[in-house]
Amino acid sequence: MQAERSRPRALETRRGTLELPIFLPDATRAVVRTLDSSDLTSVGIEALVVNSFHLLRTPGARLVKAAGGVHRFMGWDGPVLSDSGGFQVFSLIRQNPAAGTIRANEVIFKEPSTGEKVVLTPEKVIQLQFQLGSDIVMCLDDCTSAEDDLAEQERAVERTVRWAKRCRAEFDKLARGLRGASPLLFAVVQGGASETLRRQCAADLAAIGFDGFGYGGWPIAPDGSLLAELMGYIADALPANAPLHALGVGRPDHVVRAHALGYTIFDCALPTRDARQQRLYSFLPGHEEGALEVGSKFHDVVYILDQKYANDFGPIDPSCDAICCTRYSRAYIRHLFKIKDVTAQRLASLHNLRFYVRLIDRLRLIQRAST
Ligand SMILES: [Zn+2]
Repeated sequence: MQAERSRPRALETRRGTLELPIFLPDATRAVVRTLDSSDLTSVGIEALVVNSFHLLRTPGARLVKAAGGVHRFMGWDGPVLSDSGGFQVFSLIRQNPAAGTIRANEVIFKEPSTGEKVVLTPEKVIQLQFQLGSDIVMCLDDCTSAEDDLAEQERAVERTVRWAKRCRAEFDKLARGLRGASPLLFAVVQGGASETLRRQCAADLAAIGFDGFGYGGWPIAPDGSLLAELMGYIADALPANAPLHALGVGRPDHVVRAHALGYTIFDCALPTRDARQQRLYSFLPGHEEGALEVGSKFHDVVYILDQKYANDFGPIDPSCDAICCTRYSRAYIRHLFKIKDVTAQRLASLHNLRFYVRLIDRLRLIQRAST
């Protein structure tokens, strides 16, 4: 709990101050699927994540820039964090080595749909995010999987730190040329399952200096549990005033766990993907408000297609205060899914996002109370 208390409670961005912790939904391709930007605001979303790699492919960073940046393009006024795209590129290349090559200073990648060659360098990844108009820019990192051997992890850490230095230099150069306020720059800590490498990577990145740090690599063990120990090493090794971003976390219980370790920025496609697949979250009766204990069960999943909901005219979650539950019943939302109407996915997505906003609100309350 010490780590949690000492971490910053707010993140100052050029588009306003974000109270921490915060959950950012993944608007991967400049949209949270089935929802528009006013929908996001209506359930209390304050900031979101877009993916540089996907936007580079469609519609292209130049088009987004011509539109006036990603905010104008998608009609969103709040802060936007952009992924570097490294995670996607490295996952694709590691799954299929024919898809591209990772070199000391660049990643060469064949665009799957067109076969076009794309070269990503640390500088280019920063330039792309400036073209998008992102408020929180991420460094390019060499993303490994926890099962890769130690030699591979060492190489990845060496590249990640070297690339982070180049990203820092490119960012500073571009920021000096901006007319308005500068975005923030975050770096990503690699090192696989090695405590030594994780600590070393964190310390090397901290020495370069960044506005925040992310946990890099897949954060979930094969048994579905959170790699909390590894996440803890990084939190220990980084300056206490640095906000920590738990990239890809995640499940509601994982968010609570990672928050206790000092992580305060979360983004994950899970709630909206689950929503589209008829999995709706609900706080358990008696757990609708108040403290959230690490390791305790506080929510359930409503599988809305279950027959038992066909005649259930109650809301998905009686404690939910969003339109999905104040206006519509389980039976109606189930019906919309059954007839495959797109409204079902929209209402379900709004519901699951509202659940996350409420979850985060509860973590904020606990934090405020501990002051
Ligand atoms: Zn709801």
